[in-house]
Amino acid sequence: MKRDNLIRKLVEVVGATHVLTGEDAMSPHLVDWRGRYRGSAICVVQPGSTAEISAVVATCALHGVAIVPQGGNTGLCGAATPNPDGGAVVVGLARVNRIRSIDPANNTMTVEAGCLLHDVRAAAAAAQRLFPLSLAAEGSCQIGGNLSTNAGGVQVLRYGNARELTLGLEVVLPSGEVWDGLRGLRKNNTGYDLKQLFIGAEGTLGIITAAVLKLFPLPSATATAWLAVASPSAAVILLGHLQDRFGAALTACELISETALHIVRRHVRTGSELPASPWHLLIELSSGDDATAMHEALTSFLAAASDDGRVDDAVLAQSSEQARALWALRENIGEAERREGPSIKHDVSLPISLVPEFIALADQALGAAFPDLRSVTFGHIGDGNLHYNQSKVDAADNAAFLTARPQVNRIVHDLAHRLGGSISAEHGIGQLKRDELPRYKQPLELDLMRAIKRTIDPRGLMNPGKLL
Ligand code: FAD
Repeated sequence: MKRDNLIRKLVEVVGATHVLTGEDAMSPHLVDWRGRYRGSAICVVQPGSTAEISAVVATCALHGVAIVPQGGNTGLCGAATPNPDGGAVVVGLARVNRIRSIDPANNTMTVEAGCLLHDVRAAAAAAQRLFPLSLAAEGSCQIGGNLSTNAGGVQVLRYGNARELTLGLEVVLPSGEVWDGLRGLRKNNTGYDLKQLFIGAEGTLGIITAAVLKLFPLPSATATAWLAVASPSAAVILLGHLQDRFGAALTACELISETALHIVRRHVRTGSELPASPWHLLIELSSGDDATAMHEALTSFLAAASDDGRVDDAVLAQSSEQARALWALRENIGEAERREGPSIKHDVSLPISLVPEFIALADQALGAAFPDLRSVTFGHIGDGNLHYNQSKVDAADNAAFLTARPQVNRIVHDLAHRLGGSISAEHGIGQLKRDELPRYKQPLELDLMRAIKRTIDPRGLMNPGKLL
């Protein structure tokens, strides 16, 4: 009865076509991208404006019903999947997708939460500006989801993560009130920076409905190269030399193990001829300088690095198509892993200097505990962020291996923590790492987080069971 009454009220707010109740219609919204979590919900509501989101949230609050905000549903921690109890309403943001304005002189754009990241980037480019957040899921993920997970991606090295790219927010609070913080200011010291609470909050404090984003000059020159390196230590040393030589023009620096490259070739692409090597780096330079000069500078840097053995081999992209093909190898690792089958995944960050030590110690400890193990290691080494994923060499042994997830996580997360790292670099906590968090956060940090949650969402209606 309560359920029927709620659905009737939600239909009054958004119209019957935007309230999904049937199993088939709701199904894609009840499972996460990796297929690890499946939940249940009263309904999936798809409001079309901030006013409608506000009314939806107020209606749910009146009925004491929990809300799960959902963007593109590409998150990797089960944070956008409702709990199995079926007591929540999923609020899908896809229809709230207008680019509200672009201010090239202020280098800002104001966009609604449901805009696809790809569309945000394209709109910025059409105004001769760069919005630098870039990740392999950008054709499906939404900017509201990016901000709620504080997404990173491949250009953090140069431009920072989602948090650093956001100047203002509009948020529907758990009461249904709308906080209009859509300011395009680079300086504003008027007390607590409230927007930062909602960025990275994984939908546990409110629904982000719009944002003011920072824009940058569109680079006129880009150079992309694939480098074969002997080891993670060689990669870190080379990263330092690249930064010394090219400064802020070094936009991306990605580490890829041969194992990761191998599975991409097997499942997704085989095109590019690349040097055989246990480790690879994909680097990108970009700037407003002359393209020919940039290519020449990188060519001579790589020649010197090859001569003195810092690089074993290198492929410098000669065209934008070739650059895209090299990037496709990196961007398809996640998809290739999905096709390869289940594995135990980690998204850790470390001081960059300690990445080689982490890989060596973690490989050693896991190898001793679990024979015939395969680690797919890759990530944004320029940010000290590794994706470090384990499965058995023989896929037939995987089902048994997956039951050892707690022991595997313990080895990897304890080691990252001991080396001063984090158990979640860019994917968040969600339900995947919620129970790990108390082991690694200080009790005082957790108390402060809970106090913030209680203040903004005293009834615990926003995305329950995630993060805290
Ligand atoms: P969802 O998955 O829908 O939601 C994620 C979280 O945000 C949930 O807690 C949800 O409740 C909340 N949420 C969504 N929208 C809102 C809103 N408007 N207001 C409040 N809360 C909201 N991540 C990286 O950081 N770097 C990468 O390089 C990267 N690469 C990826 C590659 C692939 C192939 C895939 C599948 C994922 C990758 N991800 C990466 C993870 C994922 O794409 C990001 O976490 C992304 O930011 C999630 O956006 P989304 O719109 O899909 O959010």
